[in-house]
Amino acid sequence: LSDRLTAALQTLTRKGRLSDADIDATAREIRIALLEADVALGVVKTFIARIKERAKGAEVSQALNPAQQVVKIVNEELVGILGGETRRLNLAKTPPTVIMLAGLQGAGKTTLAGKLALWLKKQGHAPMLVACDLQRPNAVTQLQVVGERAGVVTFAPEPGNGVGDPVDVARRAIAEAKHAQHDVVVVDTAGRLGVDEELMKQAADIRDAVEPDEVLFVVDAMIGQDAVTTAQAFQDGVGFSGVVLTKLDGDARGGAALSVREVTGQPILFASNGEKLEDFDTFHPDRMASRILGMGDVLTLIEQAEQAFDQKQAEKAAEKLSSGQLTLEDFLEQMLAVRKMGPIGNLLGMLPGAGQMKDQLAQVDDKHLDKLQAIIRGMTPAERDDPKIINGSRRLRIANGSGVTVREVNDLVNRFFEARKMMAQMAGRFGFGGGGGGSK
Ligand code: GDP
Ligand code: MG
Repeated sequence: LSDRLTAALQTLTRKGRLSDADIDATAREIRIALLEADVALGVVKTFIARIKERAKGAEVSQALNPAQQVVKIVNEELVGILGGETRRLNLAKTPPTVIMLAGLQGAGKTTLAGKLALWLKKQGHAPMLVACDLQRPNAVTQLQVVGERAGVVTFAPEPGNGVGDPVDVARRAIAEAKHAQHDVVVVDTAGRLGVDEELMKQAADIRDAVEPDEVLFVVDAMIGQDAVTTAQAFQDGVGFSGVVLTKLDGDARGGAALSVREVTGQPILFASNGEKLEDFDTFHPDRMASRILGMGDVLTLIEQAEQAFDQKQAEKAAEKLSSGQLTLEDFLEQMLAVRKMGPIGNLLGMLPGAGQMKDQLAQVDDKHLDKLQAIIRGMTPAERDDPKIINGSRRLRIANGSGVTVREVNDLVNRFFEARKMMAQMAGRFGFGGGGGGSK
């Protein structure tokens, strides 16, 4: 795939808007990438439709060619969807917080219980594990082993009483947690290989008994297309508030992440990538997006292209400065760039040593900037390019057009000339940009 995409990315840079042909060509490759990553077909369709819609309105960037730009949009959208509602674990106001794990057998619930316990412990919590998988003979022992490894207490039914009732175990566990002051309880549950009515009901009963603050749906990233049906079955049968992806150390591209997120709307909270208890982290949408797209290199290239472009722009601006050829158009552009970073007051606050200048700078409020912007917008391109031509009658026209007084226009023009002169001198002294001096 990457080869094909790279070929598509060779297209020349143009100006204007992204054309339908640009978008369609790249969208086709993205579609294949998503299907290869095992994203469910229905999800691919709605996703591509959304991307096309968004790409249509986009201006062609000067730093990227159209194909690169579509890939960038796809990546952004993907990161947005995967992490749109990234949130922390919900902790109960009155402990214990109860976290219940649900999912198919082999998804990695029991392992996750140990990972979560260790992770919580490192954050200063005192977790307790609860063994509510009484289905398989050694499931309890397995949980006890991971609990020991994580160095936490495991609550389990006494051995030798036959098959216990998991709902009863869950209830007693919560009481014990309160008593022994465990502030988080992680409830491990049973899961069958397929979706199973009886076990779904059991999980729902446990849920009702412990009233969990979180139900985490644990899903194996290798499951691919089946993720959608499984997730839906668990959402209908038990309901869940978050997703954990496991086995990301495998070679699965992780399409399950996108499918589950799209179909259930629930956020992905954690990712597991190995059998050891440490192989676990909060979920990173950006990493998952490039994994699904399978074009990490392409994304890096896009980033570099954009940075190189910024660099070129900066050099050009520096050259203009030092040659005294700065125009009002440049001035406006710079002003807009600065404003994109947030209210001017915030920016000033971040400057070290701005203390003395504060009074002076206090006048440069956003309203003032709005006015300057309006004045420059009221000028013709020729005037912006060569402010020297702005004579008395032009000043009057600009003032009327932008709703300010002639004096304010005069002020702006005069200050612009002063600033230009000063900057050219400074640039000359610090020696950046091309040969200084030559004023217009
Ligand atoms: P459960 O049936 O849902 O409780 O699943 P288990 O926790 O028993 O895990 C099933 C198998 O998957 C075990 O052999 C685990 O060691 C393994 N496993 C769990 N999580 C991961 C993971 O993130 N990566 C890898 N490679 N193996 C995992
Ligand atoms: Mg288990």
